[in-house]
Amino acid sequence: MNAPTAPRVRFAPSPTGYLHVGGARTALFNWLYARSQGGTFILRIEDTDQERSTEASYAAILRGMEWLGLNWDEGPHAGGPCGPYLQSERLDIYRDHLKQLADEGKAYRCFCTGDDLTAREKAVTDAGGQWEGYDGKCRGLSAEESAALVAAGTPHAWRLHTPAEGVTFWYDLVVDKREFQNAVLVDRVIVKADGFPTYQFACVVDDHLMGITHVLRGDDHVSNTPFQILIYGAFGWTPPKFGHMPMILGPDRKRLSKRHGATSVDEFATMGILPAAMVNYLALLGWSIGASGDEVMDVAAIVKKFSLKKINNAPAAFDYDKLAHINAEHIKRLSPAQRLELAKPIIAGRGWAWDPAWLVAGADSGDAYLARVLATLGNRFSSLVTLPERVGFFYGEDFAIEQADWDEHVATDAARGRLAELAGALEAALPAGQAHAATAFEQVVRATAEKLGVPAGDLIHPCRVALTGQTRSAGIFEVMELVGAPRVLARLRRAAG
Ligand code: GLU
Repeated sequence: MNAPTAPRVRFAPSPTGYLHVGGARTALFNWLYARSQGGTFILRIEDTDQERSTEASYAAILRGMEWLGLNWDEGPHAGGPCGPYLQSERLDIYRDHLKQLADEGKAYRCFCTGDDLTAREKAVTDAGGQWEGYDGKCRGLSAEESAALVAAGTPHAWRLHTPAEGVTFWYDLVVDKREFQNAVLVDRVIVKADGFPTYQFACVVDDHLMGITHVLRGDDHVSNTPFQILIYGAFGWTPPKFGHMPMILGPDRKRLSKRHGATSVDEFATMGILPAAMVNYLALLGWSIGASGDEVMDVAAIVKKFSLKKINNAPAAFDYDKLAHINAEHIKRLSPAQRLELAKPIIAGRGWAWDPAWLVAGADSGDAYLARVLATLGNRFSSLVTLPERVGFFYGEDFAIEQADWDEHVATDAARGRLAELAGALEAALPAGQAHAATAFEQVVRATAEKLGVPAGDLIHPCRVALTGQTRSAGIFEVMELVGAPRVLARLRRAAG
């Protein structure tokens, strides 16, 4: 059982697009608040906009939440005492609540069409006035006039009767006191002519019925909050606490959008970002962690440190490089077994597979071989995306060659001669048909350099480029051990021409 004060928070996405990083951060902060306080995290799908809501978006939201590990205590699939959690399945609830407000004279029918409103807006603005969204025209209809229009089959929406005077305010959890003059808060629509509730109305009814204690959402909703508070007031309900988080900007400090790069959770997953790294980075976005804090945290540490008071009230810029850095740090902290699990599908996806003919000691299966490859890579395994290019030479002969490195270190007569010499020495020293350790390769390389009267480096550099295609790699003798003598000889001879 939750303590009586345990918060109930929700993430309430509209399934009209993918799960954007902004939405993911909102979901995460609500989840963190619930988890850090022993509260309840609810997922509610706001799908009353029938034209824009799609099954694909609903699926993408659930997939994104699951990928991030943001499990919900109540919501789709999880169920719960306040369901259903899809607004499209709650229409009778909104109907009953509308009836209550209508019976009490707090909501009224509005017969204005979109064209009527546009025409009146034009008239007001042409006369130099300010159009706030509605002018209260139908508020003054008598019960008889209204009934006559209904009887004539005139389509109508429902609007909330809002006060003309006074102020509506709340103490925001993020930005302190917010205050709006009621005079500028127009009688917005709460139920549309098609009978569907507007976001404003369904959101308030559900937040109340679901016992939501804290509404944490993006500050694009600040302008909705005063109207929602008026709906609470009309029902005689106490509003929850509100916290509006600043929006996420792109690196150029304009609102984050697709032109900045990836913005959907699915895209980050495809880019090889680990869920733990994404959660870590999103938590840091808009959260003042303080000078003492280590920024790289697993989710348990984030839950422990989380506090609403630490939410920044200034917009945060999304930094793709920092996300890559946090991701690399998370990969570094994985155990060898976890790295193996991460790398396996990437290797398999390339169609790469271990071959016993490579003659590598201790590698008697694909997994064992990959584990050893990853061990030589160490912390240079920093991205799932660059992994294939880092390990391609272990798995086949068509690995990428850095042309400049090849030209400098291999494509000279001197280098070619040394590589031919080395191939001969290796063949003579290392019995065929068996695996050889790094130390065995090393002895031959050093002895050959001595025999040629050149520093070992003059042999090692060409050798590395011939075997790996690049000048940087793990220790060359470990590489030789893992490539295995048959392939080492073949590559050296190919390079020697
Ligand atoms: N369905 C709204 C949205 O996706 C929810 C806003 C809220 O949290 O109240 O923006």
